[in-house]
Parts: sequence; C-alpha cells; structure tokens
Amino acid sequence: MRECFEIRDTDAGGRIGELTVPRADVTVETPALLPVINPNLDTIAPRRLADEFGAEILITNSYIIHGTDDVRERALEEGLHDLLDFPGAIMTDSGSFQLSEYGDIDVTTEEILEFQRAIGSDIATPVDIPTPPDVPRERAEAELETTQERLEIAEGADTGDMLVTAPVQGSTYSDLREKAGRNADATDLDVFPVGAVVPLLNDYRYDDMVDAVAAAKRGLGADAPVHLFGAGHPMMFALGVAMGCDLFDSAAYALYARDDRYLTVRGTRNLADIDYFPCSCPICTEYSSDELRALDDRERESELAVHNLHVTFEEIRRIKQAVRAGTLLELVEQRARSHPTMLDGYRTLLDHAAQLERSDPVSKGAFFYTSHESARRPEVVRHHQRLERLSVPESLFLTEGQPARSDEFDDSWRVEPPFGPFPRALSRSYPLTAEVPERTDRAALEAAADGVARLADVNPDADLTLGHRGWPAAVLERVPAGVDLIDLTRD
Ligand SMILES: [Zn+2]
Repeated sequence: MRECFEIRDTDAGGRIGELTVPRADVTVETPALLPVINPNLDTIAPRRLADEFGAEILITNSYIIHGTDDVRERALEEGLHDLLDFPGAIMTDSGSFQLSEYGDIDVTTEEILEFQRAIGSDIATPVDIPTPPDVPRERAEAELETTQERLEIAEGADTGDMLVTAPVQGSTYSDLREKAGRNADATDLDVFPVGAVVPLLNDYRYDDMVDAVAAAKRGLGADAPVHLFGAGHPMMFALGVAMGCDLFDSAAYALYARDDRYLTVRGTRNLADIDYFPCSCPICTEYSSDELRALDDRERESELAVHNLHVTFEEIRRIKQAVRAGTLLELVEQRARSHPTMLDGYRTLLDHAAQLERSDPVSKGAFFYTSHESARRPEVVRHHQRLERLSVPESLFLTEGQPARSDEFDDSWRVEPPFGPFPRALSRSYPLTAEVPERTDRAALEAAADGVARLADVNPDADLTLGHRGWPAAVLERVPAGVDLIDLTRD
C-alpha cells in the first residue's frame, strides 16, 4: 500500500480516497480538483479558492516562477504558501508542458526538483517528456526511455517529505502506456499523472483518452493515486473518475472565462448565446445574462471564472456522491449524452468493463438500465463470469416465464436481460435486482443470450432448454445449437 494514499470507497473504476500530503500537513479528499494558478496573474485569489470553494489543493508552475526574476526571489524568500496565500497543498509542475509547446526548456530535472523543494512545493514534478499522440513508435519509445531516466533521477534526489510525481507517457500506444505505468509504479515516487492527454481532449478524442488511461492503469497498482493531467472540463470528470483518475487540474475555468465561455456539465456555451442561466451559483443568481455581458472586460472575466469554478467543484461533489451511492456509471451515462464524442468515450470505457469489474463493488443500491450501453456494464461481465462457478443439474430449464411444472427438468432458472440465466435463489441479490425497461432492447437480449451461451459452454454435458419471449432469430443465433429453444409467446 502506498503510504500517502488510501482508498475509502469504490464504484466501477472510480474511488473516493485520501491523499496525505505530509509537507503541507493536509489530507486531500479525492477525486480532487486542482485549480491552476498562474503565479503572474491570478484571476481568482488562492485564498478565495480555499475559503469560498473549499479547494484543498492547487497547482502552479515552478518553471514560470523559476523564469520570472521577482517572483522567483519572492518564492525563495517567503515560500510558495505565503507567496500565494494558500493554506492547502500546493503541487508544482516542472516545465514539461512548456517543453511540449516550445520544444526546449533550460532546466534539468535535478535543478527543477531542487528549486521546487526550495520554494516549499508539497508535490513536485520532474521534467518528463510529454509525447504527443500519433507520433512514430520509435519516437514514443525513445522519449519514454528519457522519461524513465528522469524518474530514476527523481527517485535518487533528496526531496525530503515533499511528494514527487512519476508521469506516465507513451503517446497513443497502449502497450507503451502500460509499460510506462509499470515502470512508474516500480519507483518509490508518489503520484502518477497520465501525461500528454491534452491534445486528445482538445480534439475531442475521449475514446483514445480512455484507452490511454486504461493502459496506464493496467500498469499502475490499484493503490496508485492517478492525476489526469490537463483535464479541466467538468463535462468529462465523471468519465475520468470512472476510469480510476483521482486528481484533475483546471486552467479551463480561467482560460474559458477570458473568452466569454461559460462552462456547464454538458459542454461549453458562449456567454453571447445564453438568455437564461442553467445554474444557481451566486453569479448566476445575482446577474441576468444581459447584466453579466454588460460588465467591463475584467470584471466579467472574473465573475465568469467564479461561475466556471462553481460548476467545476459542484461536479466533483456530485461525482463523489455517485461513487458513495454506487451510481457513478449512471452519471457517466448521462454525461455521455452531451456530445457524440463523449458517447464514444463511454463506449470505450465499457470496452474495459472487465478491468473496471475488479474494483466494482459486488453489491450496490440499484442498477438502472438506461441505455443499450448498460448491457456492457461491469456487473453484466461479472455475472457472466460467475455463471462458470454455478453448479448446474443434469437437465435445466432457463426461462423468462414461469418455472416448469412437470418433472421434465431437474430445475428451472430465471432468465433476465441483460444478465441471462441465474438460479431463482439469486433473484434478490445485486445486480439481478436491476431496473430494466419493459421494452427490452436488442443489446440486453444479446447480452442475455451470451449468458446462456456461457453457461452452455462451461456445462457441455448439461441438457439446457431456453424459454424466451420471442427473441429475434439473430439474437438466438448467439445461443449454441445444443440448447433447446421454446418460444413462450407461441402456444
Ligand atoms: Zn453559475
């Protein structure tokens, strides 16, 4: 178990955890949002982030501080906490982002770690190489090797009780991401950012983002705190958390405000296009949209940033509540409906259902089947796996209807889409208590048919009969030929 991170609750791949930050003497509850503070320009004062928004942690850039003479001197003299006037934990970035943008920076990992320690950072970052998506494999491999060397340097550096991050790179190569995750996990470093996903997010490639995170997570241990670096839009937090990300940083709240962009959990709106605010934060209740537009540039930017932050923190709280209540995937499903690319992200998440299943609680409050994607949820995967362990009598009637009355069969099991067959005794146990619409969809029937197939595969000697309510021929094709079929809708 990593000493600095403890997991309290899980749902799908998501978790509520506690990140202990010894140097700041604070414990940060995750999933957490780290507002990005530009040391040269604060849109919202860090003190206000703590007092008004409850921010327990923020992130600022040590490379910018290092490169700005007066700020550097003040940071060295007063320390970051006094300089920024922030009581929580302060994480610092190293200039890797600048490296990816401008191709060159003038500090080494040793220097920047030493500097981060000197200015009182609580969580420091080495200079890794953020390899963009879709580069030739040779480049991704070579840069990953450099990142790995930097992690070794960071591991050997004298960093005291400052936590240090181990970024996971690997571009869009899943095997490299997984290997990078394994390598990072093998170090004694503390926090694990999945790096260089910003270009994917900028291009709405949520599917590729999910694959990158899933691969990194396969390499990292379950107890590793994971930071989805540069992901600051509240629309995708639920998806990120469901993948197993614990930390998010947002520059978006300020950057978007500068361009009159209004954040919502369903996407971004232009202030010019809004007649009614769909929000009850102090800004949206104080101003009408006309009034907000009429403010002068500086004030409008700052008020809009406040709204953007309220929406952002609100979504984090909503996600935590969903993890606690076991309804995270229902929330992801709702968010997935806000943009077709988000739906791609959710569908890709379900490609990794078996991976999510490992941390998904065995029992929860309710399973709501709300779209055909629900048929691919980890609970369905788990039920199909469980079928392998159930003992089956010699002749068995699997039915969507009433149990067999004659002694033609040794036993009758229920069949419920999307799960498929199960013994009646399990009827009241999660997830078989799922709420499924009366008008069953094709995906649920197919998943149920796959369950029957699974049971038949692992019990080749059993005599199975399926009583179904008029399943289409293409669904029945998924059931092995050895299973007898009875259409219950026919006399
Ligand atoms: Zn608002």
